[in-house]
Amino acid sequence: MTTATQSLSDASRSFIERGPGKLFIGNEWVDAADGRTFGTENPATGEEITQVAHAGAEDVDRAVKAAAAALEGPWGKQPAHARGQQMMALAAALEANTDELAELEALDQGKPVAYAKMVDVRLAVAHLQYYAGWPTKIEGETIPVSWPNAFVYTRREPVGVCGQIIPWNFPLLMAAWKIAPALAAGCTVILKPAEQTPLTALRLAELVAEVGLPEGVVNVLTGDGETGKAIVDHPGIAKIAFTGSTEVGRAIGETAGRMLKRVTLELGGKSANIILPDADLEQAIPGSFQGLYFNTGQACNAASRLYVQKDQYDTVVSALADAAKGAKVGPGLDPESQFGPVVSKAQHERVLSYIESGLSEGAEAVAGGGATEGANGGYFINPTLFAGVEDDMKIAREEIFGPVLVAMPYDDIEEVARRANDSEYGLAAGVWTRDVGNAHRLAHLLKAGSVYINVWGASDPAAPFGGYKASGIGREMGHANLDAYLETKTVWTALG
Ligand code: ADP
Repeated sequence: MTTATQSLSDASRSFIERGPGKLFIGNEWVDAADGRTFGTENPATGEEITQVAHAGAEDVDRAVKAAAAALEGPWGKQPAHARGQQMMALAAALEANTDELAELEALDQGKPVAYAKMVDVRLAVAHLQYYAGWPTKIEGETIPVSWPNAFVYTRREPVGVCGQIIPWNFPLLMAAWKIAPALAAGCTVILKPAEQTPLTALRLAELVAEVGLPEGVVNVLTGDGETGKAIVDHPGIAKIAFTGSTEVGRAIGETAGRMLKRVTLELGGKSANIILPDADLEQAIPGSFQGLYFNTGQACNAASRLYVQKDQYDTVVSALADAAKGAKVGPGLDPESQFGPVVSKAQHERVLSYIESGLSEGAEAVAGGGATEGANGGYFINPTLFAGVEDDMKIAREEIFGPVLVAMPYDDIEEVARRANDSEYGLAAGVWTRDVGNAHRLAHLLKAGSVYINVWGASDPAAPFGGYKASGIGREMGHANLDAYLETKTVWTALG
């Protein structure tokens, strides 16, 4: 047992001790076919927590067979109402285990346990509850065609077995984002958590079995990019849903295009956050601070490019720098911590290299600017704020996915909208203002899948979320995401 697990509650410790090192296929726990395992570590210390199974192509094939059998079997045959009831039972099981799930997330991902509870677990429950209402409301249409004596109607049918590949920033929540609409549509799933954060998906799998979802409906395969690729390549999988980097999203999109699989991609961002001169700074400054540093900057919709009108630039930058310097960074399991470490050694090196690049391109780090001293093996980075940033610097163009904010001055609205849109990404954008006209003028001008006005990062299972441009294809959440798991079948009948 590592030092980190010694401080856990009995429930979480018991989960780690019973050894989550197997794959969940057809409601059974099995070893990887080739017996491979890998370690998952605690980013606050760099210590290994436990070993988990490493699924390969043979395991993917086994999971596809189980998922296909479930579609043909009890899951596919039961009435829509029963699907909703089972999803509600899963939501209730997650809610009943909130403390344990939040603790496991804090241990494996690094985030503060209070946030894991308030955001990750709460929204995962809400997501399942929202989609649990849908199965009984998926309706076809009768179509008034111009043929005489014809009766034409449509049916909405599940696309089939879905491969769902998720990232490490909100592990349990991303699992819920993926499985909830798929199950509501009547699909079956193979879920692959990120290699950095497999634990809560494995605990979720235990709860799937506990609440009695039919075998093969939800299968969980732990593994890395190679496992993900085997899922994408498998011909028995009809649809891929992916959240992760734009680079991997492009590769998945290519394969899905070639194999003509259905695909939704929720990818990266470099979202512009604009403070207009009439904004309430008491609201805009803390909102912009949380908009970027929340989850240690590891959110695809992080408010990572800040634009402040030039007359207010110094005031806003100095207030944000003070807040960044005063932030309490520490292990997610320490209740005092406001921000945790970044998720892994690789991510730590990546974010630090962006900080180096900012400094070498001539930007000024007015807060942070490096790794936290005395971090005891953990992957901590001081919340960093760059001023004196030019739009064409690497730190202003590329997604950093860490606690690094870049702040730039602007003169007027048209100019700032043009600069905000000058990005390969288009996931989110934000405006802080008291002027309703300017707020909506910008909301129309900004090319982004979500525009936040006087708030950042608001989220609800009913509200669609996704990207323009290189930020993705399709939408998560709401009925838009349900549609991504349904085919439309048109039935023609000649009435004689
Ligand atoms: P990051 O770079 O932030 O780790 P990735 O996009 O690499 O993000 O990873 C997101 C998810 O995609 C993870 O579950 C990872 O294992 C998976 N993945 C990585 N490479 C591939 C690939 N080539 N095909 C399918 N899935 C992949």
